[in-house]
Amino acid sequence: MIDLCNPRQTREILKKHGFSTRKKYGQNFLINPSILDEMIDAADISKDDFVLEIGPGIGTMTQRLCQRASHVTAVEIDKELIPLLDETLSEYTNKNIINADILKTDIKQISDTYNNSNKIKVVANLPYYITTPVIMELLKAENPIESITVMVQKEVAMRMIAGPTGKEYGALSLAVQYYTEPTIICTIPPQAYIPPPKVDSAVVHLRMRSEPPVKSSDPKFMFALIKAAFAQRRKTLANAIANSAELTFSKDTVIEAINKCGFDINIRGEKLKLEDFALLSDRLRGESK
Ligand code: SAM
Repeated sequence: MIDLCNPRQTREILKKHGFSTRKKYGQNFLINPSILDEMIDAADISKDDFVLEIGPGIGTMTQRLCQRASHVTAVEIDKELIPLLDETLSEYTNKNIINADILKTDIKQISDTYNNSNKIKVVANLPYYITTPVIMELLKAENPIESITVMVQKEVAMRMIAGPTGKEYGALSLAVQYYTEPTIICTIPPQAYIPPPKVDSAVVHLRMRSEPPVKSSDPKFMFALIKAAFAQRRKTLANAIANSAELTFSKDTVIEAINKCGFDINIRGEKLKLEDFALLSDRLRGESK
């Protein structure tokens, strides 16, 4: 059995198939086996697990996942990689490769079709051009997901774990922390990939929470409020919410709600913790009745 995760093997496979990596699909293939093992250990994959991999590339991570998991479904957008994957993963019978865009894929349906609607673990070296939309999509409550272990740009990993006031804190931090318990597993230098990206990367493990850490009577509305607050993060929270095209509150109504929550009326969204947004969101919903 050939281990795909090394520079020589990766180059040989690319050459054999006349495949040139494409920037537009964020194709940076992992060539460092110890980082791969650290990531798969963090994902805690065993023979009981069904894994969804996003973007298998030439199958480097898929190979390890097939060896550890009960079943792997991998979704790859680039149709030119499909015959290549058929060859590199030919010996594994516990996998299926779907040629599709993950942002147009129904994840619940994957679990319904291949895993009796049971929970799945997501593992991926994510294409960096769509990291945030993919994470936001995965976090949707209807998805039967147990955990998400992903390689992302280091800067995005820092945004996921950020707390109030810093420039990294924003809607992604709040969504990740509301639905999951995030941990940074390791950071990765550009040389761990072919071709090397321009930035450092990191592995992040997100364990889905069974209960959110704060009570909000309408999480969807709370996240609309969070989106408005950070869409104009240099403005006061009152102005950012009142100016939002998606929300319909007058500035007076917003100021009254901010006051009733006990916050400074000139506060900016970046100062509010998750529980503060939950409080304000419930207060504003009351005002709108
Ligand atoms: N898993 C491989 C590895 O670690 O070497 C490849 C990772 S590479 C960073 C990202 C992979 O995602 C590429 O194979 C790329 O073609 C694929 N990809 C990009 N956009 C995608 C999308 N919207 N849906 C599914 N796969 C996508």
